[in-house]
Amino acid sequence: MDKEERPTPTVEDYLGVIYTLTRDGEAVIGRKLADWLEVSAPTVTATLQRMVRDGWVTMAHDKTIHLTEMGKRAAASVIRRHMLTELLLARVLGVPWSKVHAEADRLEHSLSAETTDAVENLVEDPRFCPHGNPLPGHEDLTQNLIPLLEAEVSQTYILARVHEEIEQNPDLLHFLEARHLMPGTPITVTAILPFNETITVQAEGVETVLGLNIARHLFVDRVPAKPCACGATSK
Ligand SMILES: [Zn+2]
Repeated sequence: MDKEERPTPTVEDYLGVIYTLTRDGEAVIGRKLADWLEVSAPTVTATLQRMVRDGWVTMAHDKTIHLTEMGKRAAASVIRRHMLTELLLARVLGVPWSKVHAEADRLEHSLSAETTDAVENLVEDPRFCPHGNPLPGHEDLTQNLIPLLEAEVSQTYILARVHEEIEQNPDLLHFLEARHLMPGTPITVTAILPFNETITVQAEGVETVLGLNIARHLFVDRVPAKPCACGATSK
């Protein structure tokens, strides 16, 4: 028998979202879960009741949901399986960036612990998923990233992270991919227009107008300083 305690796929999906919201310091309430998981409020309520009964979460008096120690372990396990599956699909199998999340959502529940470890050993630098989100245990690595909305106009950055919340939207991921807006790409902010609720960015010579509601889920990093003292590496 698997020594890892593994809940049903539905419960794993809930645990993953609760873990992510908690990581980001957000209060976890039923309505947010209903939004993320695209299920009805009564369904969320019924599932949460089962999860409380089975010891994955607790519910406080103010109705906020909290992972138990067992819930935390199970959540970290499914997120790790999800992200490593994404890395396998993207880096080894060549599945397009915009498709790996949905595909991993289906595969993650059935991956054995042995296969998961094997994937971790196979892919290079398995600390971030292909969207730039940190694997459990590496959360501190994204803490110094700059929200795109706080980036300076006409400054160039490296796009570093597309937050999990918009990974759920395949059309949006496809749009970002087509506009080269993927982690690792240099990106320049050309205009921020709060009155219009848009931000305009340029990546690989392509200009894209993003709504602020999308842009707030993107994070950038400073471009690493070039070694230039000897002039050897300047272009
Ligand atoms: Zn994903």
